[in-house]
Amino acid sequence: MANPETNKKHEARTTESNKVPFQQHPASKILEQLKANPRVRMIRIIVPTDACPVCRQVEGEYEKNEVPELPTLTCSKPHGCCAFYEPSLIEVYP
Ligand SMILES: [Zn+2]
Repeated sequence: MANPETNKKHEARTTESNKVPFQQHPASKILEQLKANPRVRMIRIIVPTDACPVCRQVEGEYEKNEVPELPTLTCSKPHGCCAFYEPSLIEVYP
């Protein structure tokens, strides 16, 4: 069943201000690739030290199915979120 509340939220997410639309943000593509890579065990979110508090909150290492979406939607930086994903690879044994 279509929920009008959900539709509204989705719209706000893509049309808000001058930020990069979620679907076009490079991070969403990178996340897809990392999730598809079997050598990637965990996914880290790296946040620059000058990032906004919202982004700093998502910093950390996550299971593939628990990774928060980037860019953070409530980022207070004028050009949007600057956090990014980094793979945590499965250890290669010698
Ligand atoms: Zn931010």
